[in-house]
Amino acid sequence: MVALPVEPELLRRAVVELFEVAGATAENARLIAGHLIEANLRGHDSHGVGVVPLYLKSISAGGMVLNQTLKPVVDSGGMVIFDAGRGVGQVMGHRAMEAGIELAQAQGSAIVGLRNSHHLGRIGHWAEQCAAAGLVSIHFVNVVAGPIVAPFGGTKARLGTNPFAAGFPRAGAEPVVVDFATSRLAMGKIRVYRNQGKKLPDNALLTADGLPTNNPDDLFAEPPGVLVPFGEHKGWGLALACELLGAALLGGETQHDGASDPAVINSMLSILVSPERIGTLDVFGSEMAQVLAWVQSENAEKPGQVLLPGQPEQAVRRQRMDEGIPIDPTTLGQIVEAASESGLKGLIFQNLAREL
Ligand code: NAD
Repeated sequence: MVALPVEPELLRRAVVELFEVAGATAENARLIAGHLIEANLRGHDSHGVGVVPLYLKSISAGGMVLNQTLKPVVDSGGMVIFDAGRGVGQVMGHRAMEAGIELAQAQGSAIVGLRNSHHLGRIGHWAEQCAAAGLVSIHFVNVVAGPIVAPFGGTKARLGTNPFAAGFPRAGAEPVVVDFATSRLAMGKIRVYRNQGKKLPDNALLTADGLPTNNPDDLFAEPPGVLVPFGEHKGWGLALACELLGAALLGGETQHDGASDPAVINSMLSILVSPERIGTLDVFGSEMAQVLAWVQSENAEKPGQVLLPGQPEQAVRRQRMDEGIPIDPTTLGQIVEAASESGLKGLIFQNLAREL
């Protein structure tokens, strides 16, 4: 299946146009598009424009609320919690991080809870927003969208793909960004494999009967297949920590039964620290530089073999900025179909689909 390379700016305008006709303010459409295109640019097509059909369906079903505002519900001095009222994650996440950054810059650190947001997309995006402001950050996220991941030792779906992220700013270099789902594969990655007609890697998916499978269709079968946690018991422990820290602690919704609706709800606990404000900026910078040089020096004959978290995405970004973002016809078709089902005209997407 041939993927068409699309100029990032054109794709960004296509998303802005679609969400503006759906009713988003110009500013909110800009934030949604900026986040989705950045996910594509960094190689995470699972969280790029391919999520547009899900979002449009969720708006129609009342699961995602356009133009929602953040509601502060707790301010204990050391911690703030916002309720996002199922607002668009790309907007709610941005606003919550803005508030956290301001607090951390003023007082050295901030603990920010964001509960009941619609899908927060690529969680590394929030670590990058903090890193761009000079802050170290950690993010624990739960997902309520119907269970799809089995606990370690089990075969029945119990939790979502609960992502974790951490970001570390560097002077004069791009930040280190650790960012992953706690399932072996993120849910959206299975959609990407399926749309591209590719087989899944081993040990990522079980059929509904608990048997290993490489067929992405098995996740969408009735009854559906089940994802497994990464890293055996360790990934499972982190997934559970994301559920408890990301949602339960904040008074957010947890995944504790088999119910699902078209919305994907995320709650996120973020911890932001300003090395500058707490007075460790110089030592933090020099110790980090030494550690990074040390770990990357492990094979002098093959420099560049050891990558830092964040580097694969930064490399793909440079390439896609030059060559365009590859979009496959199935994904484009799904966007155009979802827009038409919602009664929306997204002319740029329609033209792109006609070109394939
Ligand atoms: P992944 O398996 O591609 O892992 C990505 C992480 O591993 C990044 O930090 C990357 O820099 C690092 N990495 C990759 N190859 C590396 C290498 N060779 N050396 C060193 N580091 C390397 O990520 P994933 O689990 O598929 O998650 C994809 C995206 O999905 C993430 O952005 C995540 O936040 C997002 N996600 C979101 C939700 C949600 O509900 N909002 C749920 C799950 C996942």
